[in-house]
Amino acid sequence: MKKLNCAFYNILPDLKTYTRNKMSGFNLSISDKPFEIDKLDPKTEVLGIFVESKIDKKVFAKLPNLKMIAAFSTGFDHVDLKEAKKKKVAVCNVPTYGENTVAQHTMAILLAISKKIFQSTKRVKEGNYDYHGLRGFDLRGKTVGIIGTGHIGYYMIKMLSGFEVNVIAYDPFPNEKLTKELNFKYVTFNKLMAQSDIVSLHVPLLPETTRMINKRNIKKMKPGVIIINTSRGGLIEPEALVWGLETGHVAAAGVDVLEEERYISHPECLLESDCKSEDVKDSLMENIIIDHPNTIVTPHNAFNTTEAIKRIIDTSVENVKAFAKGEPQNDVTKPRKKK
Ligand code: NAD
Repeated sequence: MKKLNCAFYNILPDLKTYTRNKMSGFNLSISDKPFEIDKLDPKTEVLGIFVESKIDKKVFAKLPNLKMIAAFSTGFDHVDLKEAKKKKVAVCNVPTYGENTVAQHTMAILLAISKKIFQSTKRVKEGNYDYHGLRGFDLRGKTVGIIGTGHIGYYMIKMLSGFEVNVIAYDPFPNEKLTKELNFKYVTFNKLMAQSDIVSLHVPLLPETTRMINKRNIKKMKPGVIIINTSRGGLIEPEALVWGLETGHVAAAGVDVLEEERYISHPECLLESDCKSEDVKDSLMENIIIDHPNTIVTPHNAFNTTEAIKRIIDTSVENVKAFAKGEPQNDVTKPRKKK
């Protein structure tokens, strides 16, 4: 049987051997860097990419033999699915690998905000051992609104149960079984926005979830609300968050994702269509969010643990092998099977 030509990008050096060993039946080229559009090999049949690689029409045009995209992620909003379907390219994701991992990161951000951990550490390292001005708040008794009760939302609620908070949740597809298991209740989106002291987002970026927190509804949130987003930057209108932070309506924000994170993580502009002038990059709202004293911003790092990365590679390799056998799995271009 002909070996498929596979090209994997952004595989960190310490995981190259691990990945190579698992992909022994394939022609694999592996790079620890993101791809450069002009250097893509047209013979590539399977393209393996993390979320920072935007797969648009130009990439499809460069890869006439492409049959499958192995998305090393749960989210796949960085891939032009319409084009993939048109070109009959399977897009196989990793539906679960790190629900506990991402929830742990979300909790880490929330706990760091609640006890001013970064300000405290910085002060002590600067030689000042004074706690004045570093007062935090108890999580106990607070209302936490979880938007999206899928894999990660589930783990968030589970982890929060040890903190004696009141959890409310919104999901257009509520899972009533969970409410009994984890002792929380579903409310409408508007109620969640109005009643929560802390709001944490755990939904995919879809047309209907894009900028679900925006200039119109942020004013309806409780004054002093804390917003946490480890899902996708596009869920929050950056101007609205900046308004909230600058007026104090939002007491603090903890985000692992930013709407325009590609320009911040790859300012050298990887694809022609991604080019923005330096002036535009400097004026991004994201810079204000990063620099604000009441924010914690991490670089889309919530998934990043040794254990989770190995699970990503394991499932991605299984996806490629299943595809090679003619039995594709986790192909998001196909309608999802009901569980
Ligand atoms: P999931 O598919 O298991 O759950 C998503 C939930 O969102 C589902 O229950 C769905 O019904 C719900 N939902 C859909 N539309 C909604 C809406 N309009 N309002 C409220 N809820 C809605 O996904 P998951 O594994 O929990 O992951 C959630 C998201 O987290 C992913 O889509 C991805 O974007 C993001 N993520 C980020 C990282 C990171 O490193 N920062 C890592 C993994 C996943």
